[in-house]
Amino acid sequence: MSNILDCAIVGGGPAGLTAGLYATRGGLENVTMFEKGMPGGQITQSSEIENYPGVTGDITGMDLMMPWPEQCQKFGLKHDMSEVKQITKEGNLFKIIKSDNSIVEAHSVIVCTGSSPRRAGFKGEEEFFGRGVSTCATCDGFFYKGKEVAVIGGGDTALEEALYLAKICSKVYLIHRREEFRSAPNTVKRVKENEKIELVLNSVPDEVYGDAAGVNGIKVKNKDGIIRDIVVPGVFTFVGNDVNNQTLIQDDKTFLCDLNKQGQVVVDLSMKTSVPGLFASGDMRQEAPKQVVSAAGDGAVAALSAISYVDELLS
Ligand code: FAD
Ligand code: NAP
Repeated sequence: MSNILDCAIVGGGPAGLTAGLYATRGGLENVTMFEKGMPGGQITQSSEIENYPGVTGDITGMDLMMPWPEQCQKFGLKHDMSEVKQITKEGNLFKIIKSDNSIVEAHSVIVCTGSSPRRAGFKGEEEFFGRGVSTCATCDGFFYKGKEVAVIGGGDTALEEALYLAKICSKVYLIHRREEFRSAPNTVKRVKENEKIELVLNSVPDEVYGDAAGVNGIKVKNKDGIIRDIVVPGVFTFVGNDVNNQTLIQDDKTFLCDLNKQGQVVVDLSMKTSVPGLFASGDMRQEAPKQVVSAAGDGAVAALSAISYVDELLS
């Protein structure tokens, strides 16, 4: 077998794993998925999934993703537990440059590096990150069992994680900068009905403060400029995500393919990017619905496109 991969998949979340399943099962023989951590992606941080078709019951994101890697490996997907630093193209060959500077060549690439939690940008956020400020309720919620915590944000993630924290903690202050929430109506209803959640609306975080032991509280400012001091040992921020497009940055600081203003990869309905042989899928592509089911669907489409591309290239 040639050392050149038929297809390199960069990122092992729902999009990457599904791309791996379809690429290998669809006939590509030499396919490797590069994933810097454990496969599964950001959904493994979710405490509750209620919108993945066919999956009912009380399951976490980790439960959902657990069987996916094994299913792909059965059809021959190889897993390289490495961080990819850069993807380049010379002639018809892609180079996958890993963080240890080793290089793997590939005829096609599916990039699906997803997105990462954004910082809210208040005083003390960096200083106390990991010492009371967190972006993962399933990871850190248990540290605050029986205690009060604050959650920042008004999207699906903030509200769902506030509901999760309300099961563990004595009280959750949900701090949101507007009156209206972005989250799904059913989730908003559940939050409003939850007696353990206090809504702190039209308010932004001003400062998280504490000492060597960690966070002692958060000061929030409302739209009239009035500061409220909320004494809590834990602050969870869920204020959206930034696209992980760093692997596409070239030495001359341009991107390998076209991106839109939000930094998302521009693709067509076949998940083709502006560069032949390079496909993108999941949360990092333009207009992504940011759902597990759509990321998986994108991954399948990208793999089918990659199979056609490689067949034509090598025939
Ligand atoms: P990701 O899941 O972000 O996976 C990308 C992968 O790429 C990661 O594993 C990362 O480690 C890897 N990676 C990144 N850069 C590199 C690199 N340079 N080298 C190697 N590997 C790299 N969606 C729903 O449908 N239902 C829900 O209930 C739901 N709840 C959510 C709750 C939370 C807390 C969060 C954060 C998200 C939730 N979502 C939910 C959204 C869902 O998780 C995402 O839409 C989905 O995971 C996107 O999949 P993806 O494969 O595109 O990217
Ligand atoms: P999001 O939808 O972008 O919401 C981010 C929230 O944070 C918004 O309410 C925003 O306020 C607020 N915010 C942004 N910057 C802020 C700042 N600096 N300070 C204070 N507040 C700030 O992000 P998300 O909730 O992480 O969701 C991301 C995507 O994943 C969405 O498409 C979502 O639907 C999807 N998702 C889906 C599910 C599900 O289907 N069950 C679960 C989780 C996530 P404004 O509203 O005022 O802008």
